Amino acid sequence: MSTTPFPRLSDDDLATCVHCGLCLDACPTFRITGLETESPRGRIYLMTQWKRSTLAFDEAQVKHIDLCLGCRTCEAVCPSGVPYGRIIEAGRADVEDMRRPSFKRIASRVALRQLVGHPGRLRAAGAATRIAQRLHLTSVARSGRMLPRLRARFRPPASGVAPAIGARKHRVAFLVGCVMPILYPQSHEAAVRLLQLAGCEVWFPQGERCCGALFAHNGDLAGAETLRVANMRTYEAGSFDALIVDSAGCGAHLKDFYPGLKGRVKDLSEWLLEVGLPEPKREVKVRVTYQDACHLAHAQKIKKHPRDLIRSLPGVQLVEMRHPDICCGAAGLYSTLEPAMSNQILQEKLEDVIATNADVVAVANPGCQMQIESGLRAQGLTMKVEHLSELLARAY
Ligand code: SF4
Ligand code: SF4
Repeated sequence: MSTTPFPRLSDDDLATCVHCGLCLDACPTFRITGLETESPRGRIYLMTQWKRSTLAFDEAQVKHIDLCLGCRTCEAVCPSGVPYGRIIEAGRADVEDMRRPSFKRIASRVALRQLVGHPGRLRAAGAATRIAQRLHLTSVARSGRMLPRLRARFRPPASGVAPAIGARKHRVAFLVGCVMPILYPQSHEAAVRLLQLAGCEVWFPQGERCCGALFAHNGDLAGAETLRVANMRTYEAGSFDALIVDSAGCGAHLKDFYPGLKGRVKDLSEWLLEVGLPEPKREVKVRVTYQDACHLAHAQKIKKHPRDLIRSLPGVQLVEMRHPDICCGAAGLYSTLEPAMSNQILQEKLEDVIATNADVVAVANPGCQMQIESGLRAQGLTMKVEHLSELLARAY
């Protein structure tokens, strides 16, 4: 039996699917293609048959597994409780063992292990990218065009602790993470300020690395496990009431795969509603639409908290888009590995976003922010995309 929290593909999990098809219309790739093989049911069928060796493993069919966003919308609507998130992550790891290695796959695994898994190297790459942006050298590759204009990265205070503003009521740890402090430092800055205002002393665990979510989504469970073990050593060396996460993908991964933190991982919105923010100081006169991050809405079942926080801001008008809980096509490395499908899904999302005529699209995940922001930018639109923390911090 596995001693890690990352189980391999299990017959019991696969057997929970009763093939009813109720998940099909919720699946973004099925909605685009109409193909059974691009649906949750079709993918479960393929993984089941390969596991039982009742269907020969076929490299061409693996594309259907690659095209899954891992968004878990299917899991949210499935009446049989199919643990699709666990199935696809374990299934991907199995598929990676069986398939012929491709350059794209090898490159993504090397980039994750040699870059994302090492904060120092990632920071150096971030600094180099900032310089390249200033020299206008990043607009050739799609991934380069998608990047926001980088600012100085998020830096925790030298003491490793940000004090509570006013009376200290809680001590929380804060997940700085891998790419978010480089891509969107302003989201972390706002999140930490909100925590301080809510009476939290904020501890930044030194030596913390990437949580491993990107590794697990990419089928590299061994890489994710190495990071989990290293991070647990860091967390166990400190004391805190909750570990606060402002990136939905990381929060879902920590909740699912860090049993040592059970019950103590909180999404920022969850925690702020639990402990309460002070009265807002000023009006925030904007029309806002909120894009549910898949790993917040479906994996963590958190939809109401961000909306309640937005509605609590004086002056804000919250307008719902059509299908706010359908994936925007970002999905970790998906927009880089599967650009064509990612872009088709994004175009549908942009139509829904634009139809709201909002001033601001609020998000809870850096991947969604980068995807929607780059899509709006490509259409020459000035609608702003902001992390929920930035929007809330406007009121203080
Ligand atoms: S995953 Fe769930 S909803 Fe989809 S076909 Fe299987 S049982 Fe039905
Ligand atoms: S995780 Fe998302 S893309 Fe994958 S099968 Fe489920 S709904 Fe479809």
